[in-house]
Amino acid sequence: VLSVFYPRSVEPETKTQKPKLLPIRRQTNTVSIGSIKIGGSEPIRIQSMLTSDSTNVDACIEEIARLDAVDCEIIRLTVPNQKSVDSLPAIRAEMLKRGIERPLVADVHFNPQLAVNVCEFVEKVRINPGNYADRKKFEIREYTDAQYQEELQRVEEKLLPLVENLKKYSCALRIGTNHGSLSDRVMNRFGDTPEGMVESALEFLRILRRHDFEETILSMKSSNPLVMIKAYRLLVRGMDAENMHYPLHLGVTEAGNELDGRIKSAVGIGTLLCDGLGDTIRVSLTEPAENEIPVARSILQSTRSRIYNADFISCPSCGRTFFDLESTTEQIKACTSHLKGVKIAVMGCVVNGPGEMADADFGYVGAGPDKINLYHGQSCVEHNIPAEHAVQRLICLIKEHGKWVDPA
Ligand code: SF4
Repeated sequence: VLSVFYPRSVEPETKTQKPKLLPIRRQTNTVSIGSIKIGGSEPIRIQSMLTSDSTNVDACIEEIARLDAVDCEIIRLTVPNQKSVDSLPAIRAEMLKRGIERPLVADVHFNPQLAVNVCEFVEKVRINPGNYADRKKFEIREYTDAQYQEELQRVEEKLLPLVENLKKYSCALRIGTNHGSLSDRVMNRFGDTPEGMVESALEFLRILRRHDFEETILSMKSSNPLVMIKAYRLLVRGMDAENMHYPLHLGVTEAGNELDGRIKSAVGIGTLLCDGLGDTIRVSLTEPAENEIPVARSILQSTRSRIYNADFISCPSCGRTFFDLESTTEQIKACTSHLKGVKIAVMGCVVNGPGEMADADFGYVGAGPDKINLYHGQSCVEHNIPAEHAVQRLICLIKEHGKWVDPA
């Protein structure tokens, strides 16, 4: 079931060719979130969520400013009550005063009226199909087909005022399904499963489509990367079967903090990006919101989904290395990491280094005690340079090949 939908690797036509890594991205509709677009051929967007109380305008603004400073492209905040809705004009006014033009997303649970009311003040609303029209009673019962249809009718009636306001205020919608908060209706028929998560979203999508609302984005989050990976893949299969091409928001929810949170997010989000799935991502960490942004960028860069910096390849070093590879790599990174898209290899020895530096544009390779060879692609262009001059010579080589720009 966990098949890959959009494989990136294409087999070579002849044995001497290397496999081509093609970023075949799933084709989606484009959805506008204010001035930013998601999906289609737009860059994969990075977003985060405030941890502040939405009624505390000052705290929200400080957090928004920190996210803006690290280039978070879309900012979500929770809207649990009408007072939070009422705070939004003041938050927006202060953002404008500070020259911050990031789109805002309102996160609404349990209260359809709040979702309706908030459309006027934000660029996107996120609802959870598990609790938008349903209060969870954990009731165990068999729904007949007729009863199930009646439930869907009730959901449709609750969605209509929202659709009306979304259209009126040119607001987008995210159907944000969470594993663990599915409605009783879905739980009883499908269980707490990826299949249930997918059906939960499709029920809403069919209603929205019937009422000509297409500005929709989907998410299938779980704290278990295996569940979320399966759910997103099944969702794409389900949407394809119904000729739906909505963009995807990827995330591992409640991923935790520090190393575990980062690895879990990288596994879940990165796997799907390698399938060509995903149009916006949120790394969810139990840390200050701005810490999420470099992690998100690193996941995008590592999967070659969006390039922010130079790409570095460096070996772990071993007994064949005759220079301090760790500090040299740091030194090279400090001088060159701003060279967007340039691939630089730092390898310990000429025995294995040149062969293993893959598709690097430039290589810095140990040639013996205090001696360095420099490579352009697979060709060694400078031999036995004294180590003390080698980093400077590498920069000259990058300049000679027109790949250098001065740091901003
Ligand atoms: S490239 Fe050379 S120095 Fe680096 S780990 Fe491999 S064998 Fe060791």
